[in-house]
Amino acid sequence: MILANHLVRTFSDGDHQAVQALKLDHFYLSSGENCAVTGPSGSGKSTFLHCLAGILRPTEGTVFVDDLCLSEMKEKEAAVWRASYVGYVFQKPLLLPFLTVMENILLSAELAGRKDSRTEAERFLSAVGLDQYGSKNPVHLSMGEQQRVSFVRAVIREPRLLLADEPTSSLDRDNSAVLMKLMLQYQKQSGCMLICATHDPAVQALFDHQFSMNRRKME
Ligand code: ADP
Ligand code: MG
Repeated sequence: MILANHLVRTFSDGDHQAVQALKLDHFYLSSGENCAVTGPSGSGKSTFLHCLAGILRPTEGTVFVDDLCLSEMKEKEAAVWRASYVGYVFQKPLLLPFLTVMENILLSAELAGRKDSRTEAERFLSAVGLDQYGSKNPVHLSMGEQQRVSFVRAVIREPRLLLADEPTSSLDRDNSAVLMKLMLQYQKQSGCMLICATHDPAVQALFDHQFSMNRRKME
């Protein structure tokens, strides 16, 4: 389960001004559940997901994942936990340009301690319409194709917590529907938790739970 209470994350804007990127009173998700996080651009969705992955530490408040208090963890501890527990579909895929698509995926699997993942990777690539793409260099892929590879790179880790940040933002309607169906299918079959930031109402409607962020303004 995930429990977040009284979360605040501020950033300095370099001019000694604090920017409040995230403010949230309470969020709870049971184990094995899925939830869409919605809200306009700038409302703190990405910052929230980063806090849930232990990539960012909240300025105030607590985040629990099962019995682990993420907000108290040291950066290194969080990185070790994240490697085996979290799959993250980033808004910008950032695939490594000096590795092929397949190598990007298999590296992600290995970092999570998963071995012999090639067949599974091929199966997922085919499911997102990218069979034959394994040997390509990611720089030759469109942003939408990279987003789909990014999904495969996340699920190949067999994560207990799958976080997706606007995973369909560069996809057309058909490919968006295929990817979301696959993502929710994976979530149900594996029993992982899935939290997906989106501002697409069609994507939002597919989730069992919805959580709305309020727009934040500079303070
Ligand atoms: P969303 O994902 O909903 O679009 P974000 O979490 O990316 O929102 O950002 C929320 C707000 O915090 C935005 O106004 C953004 O400009 C600001 N913000 C996010 N990250 C930083 C940062 N590293 N430094 C300064 N401001 C930031
Ligand atoms: Mg965002």
